[in-house]
Amino acid sequence: MFPSIKPSKKNIYLDYAATTPLDPRVEKIMRPFWHDHFGNPSSLYKKGKEASEAITKARGEIAQISNSKPQELVFTAGGTESVNLAIFGVARAFELAKKKKGHLIASTIEHHAVLNSLNALAEEGWDTTLVKVDKEGVIKLEDLKSAIREDTVLISVMYANNEVGTIEPIAEIGKWLQKLNATRVAKNLAKIYFHTDACQAAGALELNVAKLGVDLMSVNGSKIYGPKQTGLLYVKAGTKLRSLIFGGGQEKGLRSGTENVPGIVGLAEALKLAQKDRAKENRRLTKLRDYFFTQLTKQVPNIILNGSKAKRLPNNLNVSLQDVEGESLLLYLDSYNISVSTGSACSTTNSDPSHVILALGRSDRDALSSVRFTLGRATRQQDLAYVLKILPPLVRELRRTAA
Ligand SMILES: *Cc1c(COP(=O)(O)O)cnc(C)c1O
Repeated sequence: MFPSIKPSKKNIYLDYAATTPLDPRVEKIMRPFWHDHFGNPSSLYKKGKEASEAITKARGEIAQISNSKPQELVFTAGGTESVNLAIFGVARAFELAKKKKGHLIASTIEHHAVLNSLNALAEEGWDTTLVKVDKEGVIKLEDLKSAIREDTVLISVMYANNEVGTIEPIAEIGKWLQKLNATRVAKNLAKIYFHTDACQAAGALELNVAKLGVDLMSVNGSKIYGPKQTGLLYVKAGTKLRSLIFGGGQEKGLRSGTENVPGIVGLAEALKLAQKDRAKENRRLTKLRDYFFTQLTKQVPNIILNGSKAKRLPNNLNVSLQDVEGESLLLYLDSYNISVSTGSACSTTNSDPSHVILALGRSDRDALSSVRFTLGRATRQQDLAYVLKILPPLVRELRRTAA
């Protein structure tokens, strides 16, 4: 093995943007809802009531965190489902009411949950526009403005990007769109709904839907130390949304099916913990991340930072290590028990250059040499110091053998 350093016994997990472990505090609060309080929330007897009251409590807590009303929150089975409900839900409701299809807008760096929802609707005859971002991955209001059409129905822009951590100007877009919508109503044009995919942001940024000016917001549990396959969609009162799942009418008819009570309880607890500790944890992670990046650039030449320096999630570092194949590096690091990612983990079978890195204007070559380190609650400085012992000689060796 090269370099000749012993693999770490402890797994050094630096892929918190892919998913997080379940926080033991979250697990503890979920446990009774699989066992003692297993009732169906729709049942009228006490056992059912226990379950429905737990959901009501969870909904109330999340409403408070997000400055929304409890009845504006729909529990789903994850971020992908929330995003699908937002996009298809708005599109289907529009089509049903107007008997025609319209126009949808998103940024070029959205998660595939958004991009492939738009692709599927395009196959059905919807028009779609992807708005470019700048070199740092930030969408420009001017570019959004020029993409608007009379038949535009929805804009979807992520709160923070999963690959490069860029934070988008959601509140600024929300404010502008509210003004624009006021003039559209006067012209008898359909309202343009605003959805934000907040799956990467929920652990680090403020989730105040009023300040953000959004109509729809997707959040999931698996990125915030909550249970996987849990999520929610904020749906502002008055938003015309059609369900994608039909059945018993749970979640105000927007998401039928017996509720995942432990999951909902766990999601609320995970969100509460994340939001409570976020200022302090953000400072800690920023410091660790910046230490790691500073040391890395000192020891390894020809590194490019992907994304923004200032408008960036505190735990994200994405770099292109030029002339090194990111995927080889990932596998070598894994042999030392270090877990990192290249591109997005959400498309495991795909080794094309990342659409996000390319959208920043990087070459295919630089995109294929990108590596993402995302730090989390268990990350300590000594873990990063260990990575810094491995990475520089490893990069040197990979460059030497590639040359
Ligand atoms: C992870 C993620 C999703 C998908 O969420 P799942 O819970 O895995 O379905 C969507 N958008 C972003 C930005 C994500 O990071």
